Amino acid sequence: MAVSRTPLIAGNWKMNLDHLQAVALVQKLHWSLKDADHDFASVDVTVFPPFTDIRSVQTLIEADKIPFGFGAQDLSVHDSGAYTGEVSGAFLGKLGCSQVIIGHSERREYHAEDDAVVAAKTQAALKHGLVPVICVGETSEDLERHGASAVPVAQLEKALEGVASDAEIVVAYEPVWAIGSGQAATPEQAQEVCAKLRDVIRASLGDDAAASTRVLYGGSVKSSNIASFMREPDIDGALVGGGSLKVDEFSSIIRFQKHVGV
Ligand code: PEP
Repeated sequence: MAVSRTPLIAGNWKMNLDHLQAVALVQKLHWSLKDADHDFASVDVTVFPPFTDIRSVQTLIEADKIPFGFGAQDLSVHDSGAYTGEVSGAFLGKLGCSQVIIGHSERREYHAEDDAVVAAKTQAALKHGLVPVICVGETSEDLERHGASAVPVAQLEKALEGVASDAEIVVAYEPVWAIGSGQAATPEQAQEVCAKLRDVIRASLGDDAAASTRVLYGGSVKSSNIASFMREPDIDGALVGGGSLKVDEFSSIIRFQKHVGV
C-alpha cells in the first residue's frame, strides 16, 4: 500500500528578523493564508526562527491556534553543562519545538561541522523528541568532480548511522551552489538526487521509513518554481530561505497546490 506523505514547507529564517519582526511575519502569514482560503491540513508548515525569537513565536502560535510548527536552526550535541553559547535539545523540546535543522551547509562551512557532528546532533535531536531536518548537498566543486549525488548520499549515510528504523526524520537536499544564488536546480536534477537519498533511507532504515520519510528540496525555491519541484515523485516539500522572509512570497509557496498545473 502506498504511504502518502503530507508535503512540508519549511522556512529557514537564518539570522534574520528579531522577535517582534518574527511575530509580525507569523501573524501576517496566517492572515494571508486564511484570506486565500488555504486548506491548512493539506500542507505542513514549519518556521525556523533565530533562537531569540522562538519563545515569542511559540506564544503567538499557541495563543492564536496557528497551525504552524516551529523549530530551531541548530542544537548542541550536549544535554546541559559548561558549553557557553550552546542550546540544548532539551530546552528546545520544552519550548514546544517540533523540528530542528541539522547540518545546514552554512553550519558545515562556517562552523566546521563535519559528518560526525551532524550524526551526533541527529542523535541529540531524536533523544529530545525533535525531528531532525538533516541537510545534505554538494558544492559546485563536488558537482564538477563527483556529480550531484555522491556527496549528499555519503553525508546522509553517515548521518543515519545508529538511527532507529522507526525514528521520524526529514531529509533536505540542498545543493550548496543553489542556496541564496537565485539559481535553483532543475526539478529533474533535484528528483534524481532525492530518489537516491530515498534509497539511502531504505538501505539504512528499511522500506517503511523510505516510504514515509519526507525528502525536501532546498535552494532558491520561489513561488515561481515550487510547483515544478512538487510535481516530482520523490520531492515532498521545500526548505526555503530568502523566500520565507516575505509574507506574500512565502504564502504563495505554501499554496503551491493552487498553482496552475499541479
Ligand atoms: C537555505 O538556506 O536553506 C535555503 C534554501 O536558502 P534559499 O532559499 O535562500 O536559497
